[in-house]
Amino acid sequence: MTDTASESAADGGRPGDAASRRRRQIPEGKPFALCLTHDVDRPYKTYQSIYYAVSEGDLAQLKSLFPGRNPYWSFDRIKAIESDLGVRSSFNFLDEQSLFTDRPRRELLSPESWMRYAGRYDLTDPAIVELIHDLDAGGWEIGLHGSYDSYRDRERLRDEKRRLESVLGREVTGIRQHHLNLSVPDTWEHHAAIGLEYDTSLGSSTEYGFQYGYGLKRPFGDSFVVFPLTVMEMALPVERDPTAAWEALESLLFEARANGAVMSVLWHPRFFCEDTPAYGPLYRRLIERALELGAWVGPPGALYERLDHPTAAADQASPSD
Ligand SMILES: [Zn+2]
Repeated sequence: MTDTASESAADGGRPGDAASRRRRQIPEGKPFALCLTHDVDRPYKTYQSIYYAVSEGDLAQLKSLFPGRNPYWSFDRIKAIESDLGVRSSFNFLDEQSLFTDRPRRELLSPESWMRYAGRYDLTDPAIVELIHDLDAGGWEIGLHGSYDSYRDRERLRDEKRRLESVLGREVTGIRQHHLNLSVPDTWEHHAAIGLEYDTSLGSSTEYGFQYGYGLKRPFGDSFVVFPLTVMEMALPVERDPTAAWEALESLLFEARANGAVMSVLWHPRFFCEDTPAYGPLYRRLIERALELGAWVGPPGALYERLDHPTAAADQASPSD
């Protein structure tokens, strides 16, 4: 039985009632919500330039290494789009291990390890500190992007949260795990235990849609909430078939509106750079269309703050909503 079917059954079999119940958790009486998120994986294009220059003979890639050029630093573009449309989003920051100082020496020979660890950045890099403070001051949400192994390592995750909070100067409440790594329910138990209030890791990099239901989930029946990820940009044929990519996004918006859903999207900052020119305009169009359809649009943390949490009695009747 799907989530939607079970919700309908709990409401006496009328799908409209389930949509109405979900709609009550959307802020400002809006018919549905669109939550905007960005995972900051690699803000600098460094080792990738060398990799492509060597592997594909594209020496033009090396110009990315010149001082003053930084094609992956697309934060001003994202801020400009969102400011123009009057919305905000969340940026999840990663405190990844270093391939050179934290990982076993044998991993230096592993291409996977280079992809995973060599592009890391330091949360205390002055440019990153300034970025975090600038986003925070402008009303954007700062979340944690758990490092590759942190989904099964509570103490590592606790340290990462503390380090990000020491840069930000206050508490961080939301997380998405890198690569959507998730061990259910252990990872969520770790998240709740270290004081995180919500998670956005439940999803796929290859499939999009409401496969985890239209509403938020409460795996422990308490105030800890999961926002299923509806679509990641990589799951769409953005460059190959932009029309199909747009039609997929628009049909998700229609489906969200019909069902009182919370739709969550992930657009990585590096897709707003010059190498991938189709992604930024598509993101902008998605937000514009959502606003036309009456959606509440914002970061998951802002939606979380407006939620009413279940009482113990209500938990018995509705483990998730
Ligand atoms: Zn990531």
